[in-house]
Amino acid sequence: MDKTEKIITSGKKYAQETYKQFPIVLSHGEGSHLWDTEGKRYIDFGAGIAVNALGYNHTKQVEAITEQAKKLLHCSNLYWNEPSVKLAETLATQGDLKKVYFANSGTEANEAAIKLARKYSSLHYNKEGKPYTRTHIISMQNSFHGRSYGSLSLTGQEKYHKGFYPLLPGISYGEFNNLDSVADLITEDTCAIIVEPIQGESGIRPATKEFLQGLRKLADDHNLVLIFDEVQCGIGRLGTLFAYQHFGVTPDIVTLAKGLGGGVPIGAMLASERVNCFAPGDHAGTYCGNPLVTASAQVVIEALTEQHFLGELKEKGKFLKESLQSIAEGCPLITEVRGAGLMLGVELTVPAAPVVSKAMELGLLIIPAGEHVVRFVPPLVITKAEITEGLTLFAQALTS
Ligand SMILES: *Cc1c(COP(=O)(O)O)cnc(C)c1O
Repeated sequence: MDKTEKIITSGKKYAQETYKQFPIVLSHGEGSHLWDTEGKRYIDFGAGIAVNALGYNHTKQVEAITEQAKKLLHCSNLYWNEPSVKLAETLATQGDLKKVYFANSGTEANEAAIKLARKYSSLHYNKEGKPYTRTHIISMQNSFHGRSYGSLSLTGQEKYHKGFYPLLPGISYGEFNNLDSVADLITEDTCAIIVEPIQGESGIRPATKEFLQGLRKLADDHNLVLIFDEVQCGIGRLGTLFAYQHFGVTPDIVTLAKGLGGGVPIGAMLASERVNCFAPGDHAGTYCGNPLVTASAQVVIEALTEQHFLGELKEKGKFLKESLQSIAEGCPLITEVRGAGLMLGVELTVPAAPVVSKAMELGLLIIPAGEHVVRFVPPLVITKAEITEGLTLFAQALTS
């Protein structure tokens, strides 16, 4: 048995099968390329599900992690640590939401958002003498917010709920991009609305600007907390550091993860000073904002906010979208190309999985989003030449 086969065989024997896994074992990467244990090279349009913002083996990121590992890996939040404070300051000063809470994942960031929204409402808007009357949250159909009980309950897709009932009570789902459907769900028990500015997992579906503006107005009119889940679409992916800046609509809470750490597990929940009301003991996690992960995230944010980075990213996104559109013109299998920046989806008339497998065989890693959509979320450092390299393989995968 060769090495690759041995790893996969042991994996199937000892690891719980919670992912359907492709039959390759990845070993290392450089820039926007990856190699497997057979020495085969891939161009990466998936970035570990929109995570590896700076690609692989990024000099400054590796240095920062190495230096921090030598100094202090972890010290708990009973004491301050400099990388965590520095990252909080950087995130706060780059946008409108000034109070930062660190988590370990997107799911955890959303859990924190649920708790903050409920606490805020319990302090300000409950009925006289009756605490916790305003606890309901409106989410969207086809959304994805994570798999813990709170975030799973927010996730508006029944296939993820099946077998795990009962969920958190008081969650309802509006129709994405249909403002009236959301307005109809608001009751005196509603405390918050949560939305992905671009729905990721269910197929790269962008919200319209009007929809997000309308949600902002509904939230203002009814004293609701507006939460944007930017776990996938935030951190530079749309050409602005925060996705809400791309749409020009500021929520009360933003949740982040994926690209934030550039490959280390970190999430964040940013709140406005008005909504922020966590006090010691309300919410916490042992690892949250530890110096190792925040030192890595600091390098990501500094790279993205360097002078020309996001401008060039918008150019590359435009190039990718136009190239995909010209592939679509000659390919009856493609019905739509959508998304913004370096977060694009190609809707197919056929299931995405076989196209993804064929692309992998040819040396291109892409990921499906929903049944019929192929998702393009490459490292943010990808070059136009690398985009062309990958798209040549994508076009080949479609024709074969
Ligand atoms: C991936 C994702 C999550 C969950 O993040 P994890 O880090 O996997 O817990 C939540 N929301 C959105 C929009 C996501 O794409």
